[in-house]
Amino acid sequence: MPEESRSPITIRGLTHRYPGNTIALKDVNLDIEKGMFGLLGPNGAGKTTLIRILVTLLKPTAGRVLINGLDLGKDRKKIRQLTGYLPQEFTSFARLTVWEFLDYVGCLRGIRPRSRRHTLIEKTLEDVGLYEARDRKASKLSGGMKRRLGIAQTLISDPQIMIIDEPTVGLDPEERVRFRNLLSDLSRQEKVILLSTHIVGDISSTCSRIALLNEGNLVFNGTPAELAAKVQGKVWKASITSQELDFFKTKYQVISAVPSEAGYELRIVAENFADGPAESVEPNLEDAYVYFMQSVDGQY
Ligand code: ADP
Repeated sequence: MPEESRSPITIRGLTHRYPGNTIALKDVNLDIEKGMFGLLGPNGAGKTTLIRILVTLLKPTAGRVLINGLDLGKDRKKIRQLTGYLPQEFTSFARLTVWEFLDYVGCLRGIRPRSRRHTLIEKTLEDVGLYEARDRKASKLSGGMKRRLGIAQTLISDPQIMIIDEPTVGLDPEERVRFRNLLSDLSRQEKVILLSTHIVGDISSTCSRIALLNEGNLVFNGTPAELAAKVQGKVWKASITSQELDFFKTKYQVISAVPSEAGYELRIVAENFADGPAESVEPNLEDAYVYFMQSVDGQY
């Protein structure tokens, strides 16, 4: 029962049906602890629906959510004060500098007096690596810097729960790594950091727990090591000729096909491999993700 759960976020029997009868979430049960938690799933899996419910923008059709023991159906105002949400399309005000924007956000959130607000802004800018850019117009920042400004504006009121949607979409590889490291640093501050993403790399090195959603079903909930272990003995490497590629792509779930002298080096996830010599290899999270995404309605 939710009352007995001590997790910062407790989700029980959560179902959401949109008009037109799309069931975006189907009886989801989940406990989310402090630290980095990855919510992973392809487009249409139900991630945004779950997040919109958690940040009180959407009322679920059925089910119950407790955040720090508060009932989402009753204590919406208090829950909003506990949570910081960074949506995918975060926009700041083009005319304001980084500093002015954070000062404005701080005023809106009622952080007073001015001296306390300014100390907090300085600390936050240091934390997200934007102190040097404090006098730049927000509109002139790079994609990665804008995302970090987004984090800064959620951090400024020191939320216990941070919810971040598609954290690295549109970032170049260097910024992607930097942004992941920033989130990982923040997760040491006794917060819940919930990342929603369809990119395995966003969560593989940073999240201590992962939930996988597919077509509204929670198909996996556990640690990254447990996720990879689900496909132990099901990942294969095989050398094939170029002519064979179409056959293998039709018959198997191909993770990668790297051109080689003979044709291709395939990486495949399958229960069994019976089409020539193949080597069983150590699974990674990408393999497990692909494996779970082909299984709908809890077949596995
Ligand atoms: P994700 O964020 O994982 O891509 P969503 O939560 O956005 O998934 O969508 C889950 C399902 O709900 C999809 O089938 C989507 O088409 C549907 N859906 C999302 N928003 C609406 C809406 N406002 N009205 C009707 N169907 C919707």
